[in-house]
Amino acid sequence: KVHGETAASSLSKPRISTLIDAARDVMAAALNQGGTSFDSLYVDVAGSSGYFARSLNAYGRAGRPCRRCGTPIVREKLMNGSSYSCPLCQRKR
Ligand SMILES: [Zn+2]
Repeated sequence: KVHGETAASSLSKPRISTLIDAARDVMAAALNQGGTSFDSLYVDVAGSSGYFARSLNAYGRAGRPCRRCGTPIVREKLMNGSSYSCPLCQRKR
């Protein structure tokens, strides 16, 4: 529930702790599913793709409903790539 452009220094300690716990949970779930394969370079030693991309809540889902609140996910340009977020769940502050 944190917008990607939020300065880390603006987050409270409890919010940082919650964010770290959530990041740990997401990374553990991703590893259990073989990771996230964005293209053919991201495969395991057997050449198999990871399946976590199917579980991503925002990335690659521009225009589709947020799985938490139903608001369409927005894509923003970020350096050479893109950032995806829910404008309601991840408000810029
Ligand atoms: Zn949302």
